Amino acid sequence: KGERLRLPPWLKTEIPIGKNFNKLKNTLRDLNLHTVCEEARCPNIGECWGGGEYATATATIMLMGDTCTRGCRFCSVKTARRPPPLDPDEPYNTAKAIAAWGLDYVVLTSVDRDDIADGGAEHFSQTVSNLKERNARILVECLTPDFRGDLAAVEKIALSGLDVYAHNVETVRELQRHVRDPRANFDQSLSVLKHAKKVKPNVLTKTSIMLGLGETDQQIRDTLTELREAEVDHLTLGQYMQPTKRHLKVDEYVTPEKFAHWEKVGNEMGFVYTASGPLVRSSYKAGEFFLKNLLE
Ligand code: SF4
Ligand code: SF4
Repeated sequence: KGERLRLPPWLKTEIPIGKNFNKLKNTLRDLNLHTVCEEARCPNIGECWGGGEYATATATIMLMGDTCTRGCRFCSVKTARRPPPLDPDEPYNTAKAIAAWGLDYVVLTSVDRDDIADGGAEHFSQTVSNLKERNARILVECLTPDFRGDLAAVEKIALSGLDVYAHNVETVRELQRHVRDPRANFDQSLSVLKHAKKVKPNVLTKTSIMLGLGETDQQIRDTLTELREAEVDHLTLGQYMQPTKRHLKVDEYVTPEKFAHWEKVGNEMGFVYTASGPLVRSSYKAGEFFLKNLLE
């Protein structure tokens, strides 16, 4: 190993664009919203914003700025010890903009803010409550940091009125130190997911794993077992892609067949839904899956 792997054909395919896409794209300009979908140039944007079978438009919005206090080896977000302070008007303004935008399902996420006492939990929670006040029908997922294991912070968000509580374990237990910032770890992340479920049992919990970082099949299986034991409801598995040369190298491009295998394993293990594929991301078509699951 040591050489960079060539991109396999299944990662070069064109992705279809759903019918809502242009509408959302055109109305975004004046709203001053920062979507991860656009900023990370996510390849799924046509599908997520466009919606599929149920025309459910999903987008991911980043709160609390663009600078993280951590530095995970897979992530291209910029890092600083003391990022600029939070904008106190952000929860109100963001909620207003999202409500006006015409989404069915929104993922609110953020950088890690270890410099703030509650890690930004109050900020998250206010954004959710403002948004639900304006539009009770929009489905809200929060994809949160681990808050260094501060369960009061987790609780505040779990009780904010959201529909899905997501926190990513990112990789198998054995590769945590290799992949994530040293302040993160598997048990701490598991405690976040467990606590959200404990304080609000009807909230769906969700996590994501990247494949292609050198994990073994057995390690994936064991990780899935632990996640089920923690009553995690939704699982996504996707291919790790190296964002720049300074980041962790891809160890393997996992085939679509193998991803399909993990989807089957996830379903057999009893996850409410499992989305698994090379381009699947944590928020990939989240609204579609949510609705499909409700209707079936
Ligand atoms: Fe990126 Fe999140 Fe890690 Fe920060 S904590 S470096 S945003 S993955
Ligand atoms: Fe946006 Fe997530 Fe969909 Fe990518 S996968 S387009 S970031 S909602």
